[in-house]
Amino acid sequence: MIERLTNAPVPPPMRERVREILEQLEAAYGVPQLHRNRNPLDTLIETVLSQSTNDRNRDRAFARLKARFPTWDAVRRASTREIAAAIRVGGLARIKSMRIKRILQEIERRTGALDLSFLCRAPLEEALGFLRSLDGVGPKTAACVLLFACGRPVFPVDTHIRRVAGRLGLIPQRCSDKRAHQQLGHLIPARHCYAAHINLIRLGRDVCRPRNPRCEVCCLIQYCAYAHETGMSSLSERRPRERRSREKAHRARARLLLSSSSPEKTYG
Ligand code: SF4
Repeated sequence: MIERLTNAPVPPPMRERVREILEQLEAAYGVPQLHRNRNPLDTLIETVLSQSTNDRNRDRAFARLKARFPTWDAVRRASTREIAAAIRVGGLARIKSMRIKRILQEIERRTGALDLSFLCRAPLEEALGFLRSLDGVGPKTAACVLLFACGRPVFPVDTHIRRVAGRLGLIPQRCSDKRAHQQLGHLIPARHCYAAHINLIRLGRDVCRPRNPRCEVCCLIQYCAYAHETGMSSLSERRPRERRSREKAHRARARLLLSSSSPEKTYG
């Protein structure tokens, strides 16, 4: 059963628009599959380490932390200086070391163990609430833990997704993290949270860049408010016929994949 945090319906035209956007993304980038073999506490610490750095440095910092300390309890008991030395490669080591230590202390204090596997079974709202109540854990980090480690239907919004969604007109260009998560979590169908998350990040990194977005090669140009406002959407009408027929075939394939999808997930 798909859990929902709110039951407010998505208006049909918006639901259809989001469905088409997801089809286009899946036609362009495929349907990434979530392989769930992660420990929720590992994922939480990894996500804290990912703040303000790239994936490579996050992975290196995480690997060094795990190599330096045999258990999370050893990290909890270590000084912030020792933790910072282990994760220095990931940047902001002092802040992150304090955050990690506080999070581990708090989890131990409240649950009596350093194990978050109960979050995969708890009601979704409670699981989100627990994570959000930890110092330094925002809506994105909480959603990453529940999606990546537990496969729960939540939609993490990172900087790329926020930019793309803002330009598409799915969320206001300027809004709080909380609102971006609420609004997109409400719009993205539950079964597509993972694929939509991965594909929107890919689009944001490769095509919808912060500066000089490459609208002329973007698979979402016909749905994009920004492209429409800047006159870039006229480019989509000049595409060669062969490309259009290729896109049509891709769309048909994606529609098949999406035909088994659930109605919209809502959470707020
Ligand atoms: S059309 Fe341009 S602005 Fe719109 S999503 Fe694509 S790259 Fe971004």
